[in-house]
Amino acid sequence: MAGDGTVQLIDEKGKRVDGRDLDELRPLSIKIGVLKNADGSAEIRMGKNIIVAAVYGPRELHPKHRALPDRALIQCFYRMATFSVNDRKSPAPSRREKEISMILADSLSSVVLTEKYPRTAIDVYMQVLQADGGTRCASLIAASVALADAGVPMRGIVSSVAAGLINDKVALDLYDLEDQKGSGDMPLAYAPTLDEISLLQLDGIFTIDQFEESLDLAVKGAKEIFEIQKNALKQKYTDIRADVKEVPKAEAKEVPKAEAKEVPKAEAKEEPKA
Ligand code: UDP
Repeated sequence: MAGDGTVQLIDEKGKRVDGRDLDELRPLSIKIGVLKNADGSAEIRMGKNIIVAAVYGPRELHPKHRALPDRALIQCFYRMATFSVNDRKSPAPSRREKEISMILADSLSSVVLTEKYPRTAIDVYMQVLQADGGTRCASLIAASVALADAGVPMRGIVSSVAAGLINDKVALDLYDLEDQKGSGDMPLAYAPTLDEISLLQLDGIFTIDQFEESLDLAVKGAKEIFEIQKNALKQKYTDIRADVKEVPKAEAKEVPKAEAKEVPKAEAKEEPKA
């Protein structure tokens, strides 16, 4: 929720409270394949935000009457852990969490080739472990690469970041203090390879010039984040290749020919005919 913009958030040198320039992102890192049981997963650290995204599916949808005859249903579950914010959050899903889940599902549905998997569900869980503003954008960044990690076919990768107003100036990637004390917040989701915007929200009052400047800045930020997403995905395969190379030859046992007996015909049971 944007504030009234009266708190001084930019110093005389034009630096923000956390030392960033107005057009600078927070430090961002993404790790792919962090969960063993998920089909695809990613962990994102964006400033102090820590979020894990897990993808399951395409899989059977329950209850079945919710299935879509011509495409897969993308279901997002954005949740904040009780300990992720200063004031303990109730574990029950809040209206805010349900709304964010819905808009994130809409954004991801715009790039996933859902028509390839009719009547199925693709479930995307986003768990915020530590929140510091911009969690919906960070969740979307992680969810998008987790979908790629799960091998879900997509037209492009969604990237996401907010721009906003602090002391009447347009700034990129607001953190919690700027989100609360600034006067406007505009989260955006953008797929750079498609040049498509799939989420645009606005909180606060922007002039037309401020809106256009925010939009340009958020798109520029999303393009920077997209490069980090691509590198994280490439890194996963570099790591796998390194692991495979490291296996010493002695461990990669070959079965001696004498041991590789043929199964006697009597043991090779036939399936009883129905
Ligand atoms: N927040 C909180 N308690 C809540 C919800 C949010 O303390 O129940 C904080 C949290 O740090 C979050 C920030 O408020 O990142 C901004 O929330 P907003 O609804 O603007 O969503 P976000 O910017 O995280 O996408």
